Amino acid sequence: MRLSGFAQPGSDPGPPPAGTTRLRLLVTTRAVLARPGPAGEAGYVTGLSVLPGVPPWWWLVLSGLDAFRPECGFDPYDLVTVDVTRAGAGPTRAGAESTEARWPVPGTVRREHHLKQWALRRAWLDGHVEESMCRLDRPDRQPAPALVRVRDVAELLITPASGGIPGPTGGHPRPRFRGAYRWRCAGRTCPGHRHDIVDWEFTALQRRVVGLPDDRLRAALVNTFHGRLCAPDREVAFYVGPAGPGRPGYAVTGVYWPPKP
Ligand SMILES: [Zn+2]
Repeated sequence: MRLSGFAQPGSDPGPPPAGTTRLRLLVTTRAVLARPGPAGEAGYVTGLSVLPGVPPWWWLVLSGLDAFRPECGFDPYDLVTVDVTRAGAGPTRAGAESTEARWPVPGTVRREHHLKQWALRRAWLDGHVEESMCRLDRPDRQPAPALVRVRDVAELLITPASGGIPGPTGGHPRPRFRGAYRWRCAGRTCPGHRHDIVDWEFTALQRRVVGLPDDRLRAALVNTFHGRLCAPDREVAFYVGPAGPGRPGYAVTGVYWPPKP
C-alpha cells in the first residue's frame, strides 16, 4: 500500500467513509518485517489510542518503501488521526494473520502534534506499561502490540543478515545485520526472553552509515540499541508486536527509554 502522505492541512476531513473507523493515535513504533520480493519492505505501525472508550493498542499494516518515509505521516510520538479498514483486503497480507490489524486509508493521515518531551510521552504511556512478557508470550495467545517493562538486558545479539532480512528495493543498501535482545521482563519468575528486533530504526541506522566496516557498524548498533537506549539511567520498556507473517510470537518493535525520575 502506498500512502499518499498527509491529508491537506486545514481541510475538513468530514465523517469517516462507510466501512472505515477514524482513530486518534499516539504513534509508537514502525516495525519492518522480512518480506523478500519486488514489494520491498513491509511492516506495520503501532500506536496507542488516545480516545476514551477505544481499545488502547492498534497496529496498521504498511508495505513498500513509501511507508517508511517521513512524509508517510507515521513518525514515533506523533499524535495523528487516520481512517482505517479491517485487515485482509489490501495489496499485501503482511501481518494480516491477526484479526486485530488494520489498514490505513491512503491520504487520511493527519498529524496533529509531535510529542518531543519525555514528560508528555510518559503522561500517555506509563499507565500502559505491563510488567510481564511471560504472561503475553504464550502459544495460545495471538500476538498484539504491547509495552512491557524490562528488568534487564543480558545481551544484544548481532548476526549477519541473509535471506529474508528486511530489504528494500530502489537501490538502497540492504541492512548487513539483524539484531535480537536477550532480556528479562519484570515478572517474578521470568526465565528470560529472546526477541528479534524489527524496529525500523535498527535498519535506518545501518542505512545512515553505509561506509562503516562491519566491526564498527556492529559496535555502533550495540552502542545505540544496548548502551544508549538501555542505559542504567533509563526506565526501559520494550514495545513488542507480532513477529510477522509465518513467524509466530513476538518481536521487539521499539524501545521506550525515558530517563529515570
Ligand atoms: Zn518474562
